[in-house]
Amino acid sequence: MKSGFPSPGHDHALCVADTLTHAEKTCDVRGVRLTPLRRRVLGVLAASHAPVGAYDIVERLKKTGEAAPAMSVYRALDFLVGEGLAHRIESRNAFLACNRGHGGDEIVVFLLCERCSTVAEVTSSAVGRDLTKAASAVGFEAHAPVLEIKGLCEICRSPSASQERIA
Ligand SMILES: [Zn+2]
Ligand SMILES: [Zn+2]
Repeated sequence: MKSGFPSPGHDHALCVADTLTHAEKTCDVRGVRLTPLRRRVLGVLAASHAPVGAYDIVERLKKTGEAAPAMSVYRALDFLVGEGLAHRIESRNAFLACNRGHGGDEIVVFLLCERCSTVAEVTSSAVGRDLTKAASAVGFEAHAPVLEIKGLCEICRSPSASQERIA
């Protein structure tokens, strides 16, 4: 998964594989365990470029014959978000897999398409530094700042393509 919006014909199996490989490596380095359930939950998230709600994850696991108690799924999500392997999209109350890892003074900006629900992730160190400065001017210390911006993705902005996408 590159940054930006996924192209409609992209090899999605690669996105999923990339995300899981990144997660395995990250967990290895940190000495934390990517348990089978955590892996499955991340797999469900990686299978979608639109954020998935916790309840939907429970349902999707059921459908694949890998049912897990909701509480365990919530705990797996807490873990994934805590390790930066997934993001919580507040305005959608849903989760998105991340295969990048973030750090330093960069800010994560989620671009949310209002039509197809796809979310792309971009980062900006300049914006991050600017916001940190503005916040500290009023004595505020920002923790892992995230921005969510609504709009239309490139595909949905093109009139013909958006018809296909909705169908
Ligand atoms: Zn991310
Ligand atoms: Zn869109």
